[in-house]
Amino acid sequence: MDKKCTTKSADPTFAFVSLGCPKNLVDSERMLGKLVQDGYTLVPDARGADVVVINTCGFIESARQESLGVIREMLARKEQGEVGAVVVAGCLAERQGQALLDEVPGIDQIVGVFGREEISTVLDRARAQRNEQRYLFRPAPVRALEDTARLRITPRHYAYLKISEGCDRLCTFCAIPRMRGKHVTKPIEEVLREARELAQDGVRELIVVGQDTTYYGMDLYGRPRLAELLRELDQVQGIEWIRLLYAYPMYIGDELLETLATTRKVLPYLDMPLQHINDRMLKRMQRRVNRRETEGLVAQLRERIPGLAMRTTFIVGFPGETEAEFEELRAYVREARFERAGVFTYSHERDTPAARLEDHLPEEVKLDRRDRLMQAQQAVAFEWSNAQVGKEMEVLLDGPDADMPQHFLARGPQDAPDIDAVVRIKGKNLTPGDFVRVKITAADGYDLVGRALGAGW
Ligand code: SF4
Repeated sequence: MDKKCTTKSADPTFAFVSLGCPKNLVDSERMLGKLVQDGYTLVPDARGADVVVINTCGFIESARQESLGVIREMLARKEQGEVGAVVVAGCLAERQGQALLDEVPGIDQIVGVFGREEISTVLDRARAQRNEQRYLFRPAPVRALEDTARLRITPRHYAYLKISEGCDRLCTFCAIPRMRGKHVTKPIEEVLREARELAQDGVRELIVVGQDTTYYGMDLYGRPRLAELLRELDQVQGIEWIRLLYAYPMYIGDELLETLATTRKVLPYLDMPLQHINDRMLKRMQRRVNRRETEGLVAQLRERIPGLAMRTTFIVGFPGETEAEFEELRAYVREARFERAGVFTYSHERDTPAARLEDHLPEEVKLDRRDRLMQAQQAVAFEWSNAQVGKEMEVLLDGPDADMPQHFLARGPQDAPDIDAVVRIKGKNLTPGDFVRVKITAADGYDLVGRALGAGW
């Protein structure tokens, strides 16, 4: 590679690509903060950067292919002399380890999920082309890593708050515990410190994440303490909305139900992946809940939390799933009427117990079931959208709508960023991060259209 083409500025420069879920995004923001703190300059484009860092995702095949695609693209640019060195971080690095260097030889350095605190050392090595050690891995820490001093890449007015790392569940299809380790609760004081730091940095909406948020406290305090944490977060000045993602259908007792229902800033929104509803499938997935318990919990949530919007996720095509079991799931989706739902096809993860089960289904059967389930969910979601017409709601402004002049994209309590829908509103002199009362004037599929209420809109 022709060295001349990369800029040798006083402060070494780096570009950063963040892939995967909100938990990985928090890691990216922490690494960005550390690199800038350690004298690196972030540049918007990889062209001319001394180093490009790719924080990868590796939990299912499609995510791995996306990560490998970005890695190969950056290596091609390195070949052309556009980029100095390529560093791969995150879940794909953690999961594949040194094998990734054999699979993709051009990579300069790889760093595991728990090596993120030493990211500057890794970049120093990459720039120095020191190949004696091209990887850095650290064991999963017994104490959750701090996520302070982040250089945030989300819009200023919302941020993800990671309250724990890892997972103690053993869902047979899931490789996440292999990459993220056992469940480690972040102490309440530490979470509150981070929340205050984010509020001082202009955050209005806190989105609470972890692999399994309802398990919060079980390891560190020996009992669930999510309800208490949410009530404490409710006291943080500047925060207006608190949104809960990645709940597991367990440890949702009276105290948490009461907190979700009555705490002012906690939104009537809950993301709770269920994965399936058929008892035999739930057993094969080792979800440790059955249909009756699931239905009982969903009924309680609906009954106790006024205006609750529920998001969930399902897997279709799990090994052994019969047409009848799939149809049971489809009927349940029509009946349960989740406001938001995502559907994944089962991904054959060779280092998971499910990979050793018999009766794996052909890809076309999985894809067909995914489409049929999404169709059923789409009908439910569209009916929900239509039912909002004429109603008023408070929305949080995310920014101008690139497709429609004088329109802004916003989200209501029922919409988490990136995974749910939007509220398109007509108005002027609106600023991202503002809360605006709107009247819903139309439904547009999953999305809503509204008009800002009050003077001057
Ligand atoms: S709860 Fe299950 S699916 Fe979720 S991260 Fe843990 S093991 Fe994976």
